Amino acid sequence: MSAAAGDARPAYLDNAATTAVDPRVVRRMAECLTAEGDFGNPASAGHVFGERAAQLVEAARRQVADAAGARAADVVFTSGATEADNLAIFGVAELRREEGRHLVTVRTEHKAVLDPCRALERRGWRVTYLVPDGDGILDPRRVAEALRPDTVLVSVMHVNNEIGTVQDVAGIARACALHGRAWLHVDAAQSVGKCGLSFERDGIHLMSLSAHKAHGPKGVGALILARARGVLVEPRELGGGQELGLRSGTLATHQIVGMGEACALATAEGAADTARIAGLAERLWRGLEALGGVWRNGDPARSVPHIVNLSFEGVEGESLLAAVRPHLAVSTGSACASAIGEPSYVLRALGRSERLAESSLRFSLGRFTTREEVERGIAVVSAAVIRLRRIAGTSGCAGACA
Ligand SMILES: *Cc1c(COP(=O)(O)O)cnc(C)c1O
Repeated sequence: MSAAAGDARPAYLDNAATTAVDPRVVRRMAECLTAEGDFGNPASAGHVFGERAAQLVEAARRQVADAAGARAADVVFTSGATEADNLAIFGVAELRREEGRHLVTVRTEHKAVLDPCRALERRGWRVTYLVPDGDGILDPRRVAEALRPDTVLVSVMHVNNEIGTVQDVAGIARACALHGRAWLHVDAAQSVGKCGLSFERDGIHLMSLSAHKAHGPKGVGALILARARGVLVEPRELGGGQELGLRSGTLATHQIVGMGEACALATAEGAADTARIAGLAERLWRGLEALGGVWRNGDPARSVPHIVNLSFEGVEGESLLAAVRPHLAVSTGSACASAIGEPSYVLRALGRSERLAESSLRFSLGRFTTREEVERGIAVVSAAVIRLRRIAGTSGCAGACA
C-alpha cells in the first residue's frame, strides 16, 4: 500500500515518522545480503568476503562517529539504544562497584534507562531521580547538587522522546568534570540529525544511539565510550569477543551499514530537514492552538521541532485517540508507555495533572512528513476535539487558559 492510497491509509504523525527507512539506506543494506553482494562475516578475516564486510563495518563506524562528534575507535555496535543504555548503566555500575554505588538520573528518562536504574536499586545501589522544571528542562546545577563522593554515573538524555526538549548536556558534563569521578552517560537515541551532537567537545563519557530514529533500520544502535579518557564497561554479552570484547556476537553487517548510511545522510541533510520540519511543526501548533484550551508540553524554544506534544483540555484521552485513529497515526506517549495504557510519566513529571496528561497527543515529524499530512492532522484532531467537547458540554477553556 502506498501513501497515495489517501484516506484509506492514515496520515503518519507518529514517533515512527522518524523511523521510515530512507530508500538510500535500504539500497546500501541490500548490497550486504545476497550472494552477489558483500555478505561475508566481518569476523572472518581469512578471506576476501570477510575482509570486505569488515571494511564496510569500519566505514559505518566512521559515519556513526562523525554524526556523534566521536572517535570511530570508541563506537561499539549494539542491537539498539535499549541495549546501549543497559550496557552503559549495568556495565559502569558493575565495573566501578568498588568505587561507589550511587547513580543520578532524571524522572523523564526513557524506560531503557529508568528500568536498569530500578534493577540496580534492588541490588543495593542508590539512585537519585532529578525532576526537571515545568518546561521539561533540567538545570545542570541540580546535577551538581546531587553528586556525592560515591557517585559513579550520571545518566541524562539529550533529546526527550516524548516532548522533544533538549537538555544542556555540555553543562551537565561540566558538573561531572568538576566532581571528577562521575561519568556522564547520554541517551542520544533521538538526537542524530535533529541537533548537533559533540561527544568529544562536550566531554561526554558514554552515549547511546539508535539507527531507527534517524531513518535507519530498527534493531541496530551503538554505545560510544570515551576509551581514551579511561571509560570502559563490564561486558554483558560474552562469547566471540567482537567489538573490543565489550559486545560479543556476529556483527549484523547489513544493519550496521544501514546505520552508517543513515548517520551520513543525517550529517549531510539533517539541518535542511530540521529547517523544513520546523515550518511544519509551527503550522501544526498554530492550527491546533486555535482550538483554545491546548497546552504545549516542553519549552518549544528549547526543543527539536520533530516532536510536538499537546494536551487538550475538556476531552478524554482514550476517546480522542479512538476518534483520530482511523485517519491519523499519533500516540499518547512513548510506544512502550502507551502499551501499558497509563498516563505519561514524563508529562506527570512536568507537573501536568493526570487528566491533562491523559488527554495528550504526541505528534512526530520526520524527513518524509508532508505538508498535506500536517493539514490532515490539524483537521482530524480539530474535528475530534470540537465534537468531544460538545458531547462533554464544555468549551474546553474552563479556568486554566483564561
Ligand atoms: C527509541 C529510544 C530508545 C530505545 O531505542 P531502541 O533502538 O528502539 O532500542 C531509547 N531511548 C530513547 C530516548 C529513545 O527515543
